[in-house]
Amino acid sequence: MLQQLADMAQILINRDQIVKGTLPHVCVRCGEVAVTNRFPGLGNPSTASWFLSARLRVFGMLLFWAYILKIALSGNESEAPPAGLPLCGRHRNYWPRRAWFMVVGFLGLIGLWALSYATDPSVHETGHRITKAPNFVSVLLVIWLFIYLPEFLIVHLSSMRLTGNEGKKIILSGGSQKFTAALRAAEQQDGLSPTATDDKLTIKQQFKRVAGDYFG
Ligand SMILES: [Zn+2]
Repeated sequence: MLQQLADMAQILINRDQIVKGTLPHVCVRCGEVAVTNRFPGLGNPSTASWFLSARLRVFGMLLFWAYILKIALSGNESEAPPAGLPLCGRHRNYWPRRAWFMVVGFLGLIGLWALSYATDPSVHETGHRITKAPNFVSVLLVIWLFIYLPEFLIVHLSSMRLTGNEGKKIILSGGSQKFTAALRAAEQQDGLSPTATDDKLTIKQQFKRVAGDYFG
């Protein structure tokens, strides 16, 4: 896990290139040949800023996955190919697969909580003495809470994801260094100043960044 965090490449990508579909045809996740471009909406500065809003904190992270799931379910992203991030066949559903777990798991948590509140008399007991045992739904709620919350953090932090929104660029964490190299080569060919960075952060810096995600 620590090694994985330390290895995560931070990639700066021009929003313009996402919107126009001019990124190299190399999968952002693994560096293989890309077969499709997806999620052009990430080139929209206001969309990206929602997920990274410090005020929303954990809900902002959840919003990112809800957005991905919405796009995957709506199925109308093929309107303007090839805009979006290039992805290979194996990774075209990298984000939607995770989004299902994140969003459905969260809805399950809310559903169990509501059901527990409605059906379990022990939830309504006041004072320090608990006389009634929690019912099955409440036990399930607690079990799911202990499974889902750590899983959410682990999956979120280890996933390729948006971690920054700076000026005309977004920062993608956990992307492929091969993609970074392809991006840099294309920029050099075009005579542009390089924007891609693959600086490996030290573990201390990564922790600061991660801590900032949650508590900053
Ligand atoms: Zn891939």
